[in-house]
Amino acid sequence: MRARAQGPLSGIDQRSTPGFDGGKSAGKAALKARGALLAGLQERLYAHGRSGDPRSVLLVLQGMDTAGKGGIVKHVMGMVDPQGVSHASFGKPTDEELAHDFLWRIRAKLPAAGQIGVFDRSHYEDVLAVRVHDLVPESEWSTRYAIINDFEADLVAAGTTVVKVMLHISTDAQRERLAERLDRPDKYWKYNPGDIDERQYWPAYQEAYQVVFDETDADTAPWHIVPADRKWYARLAVTELMIEALGRLDLEWPAPDFDVEHERKRLAQT
Ligand code: AMP
Ligand code: MG
Repeated sequence: MRARAQGPLSGIDQRSTPGFDGGKSAGKAALKARGALLAGLQERLYAHGRSGDPRSVLLVLQGMDTAGKGGIVKHVMGMVDPQGVSHASFGKPTDEELAHDFLWRIRAKLPAAGQIGVFDRSHYEDVLAVRVHDLVPESEWSTRYAIINDFEADLVAAGTTVVKVMLHISTDAQRERLAERLDRPDKYWKYNPGDIDERQYWPAYQEAYQVVFDETDADTAPWHIVPADRKWYARLAVTELMIEALGRLDLEWPAPDFDVEHERKRLAQT
């Protein structure tokens, strides 16, 4: 279920389900079972944070419109205790944000100790949307890959495990999902007429994503390209990536910083 950003993006089948043999119903059942494990690991991370452990985990979600970023937040992070999750989504920068360097708004939303932070879009938009639409001169955005690598290396050194996921959908899947948004009154709120304009830039975005993988797929902060035409698969794959990331932290329950026997006696006397 691991899809490290190897080889070109164009070689990945968005409908594929690498590492999982079953179909949709088996995938949904697996998600539930694995979600319980994820919830247990998250609780340990939270407990560690409360005990002074500085570590945290940051899930960076990228993908084209309708790729399912919100669905990951709802269906994957929704399986764990909300107290341990901090969520931030990054849209077009405000005037205030534009007055600062591009990492300013990102730094402000980094997860605290013991938290899982989830970014719905991220600093990568500053080399994706910005690059595709020439929002700043090339001389500026071209320096950002190195700035991002340094930023993430510092984050990792300070105890944050960084999990970067690109939800990879096909143009056909996006067309279907946009059509659904137009067919269903309960989905109108997700529809943005600008998404149709963005479709014209699809090849430019795929190219910009490829450069992101080529430039920022660090060993300490790797990219994972998750085929996302099948939502159930993408959710399961991201769950596995999170289980793996948390598993690497070797989280035993934190030892008490008090004398358990003594406290039992004190309690008995009350
Ligand atoms: P949504 O995720 O549907 O709310 O859309 C957010 C929009 O904001 C997308 O079109 C992004 O490309 C855009 N966006 C996010 N970050 C930036 C950025 N740093 N510069 C320009 N556009 C951005
Ligand atoms: Mg949108």
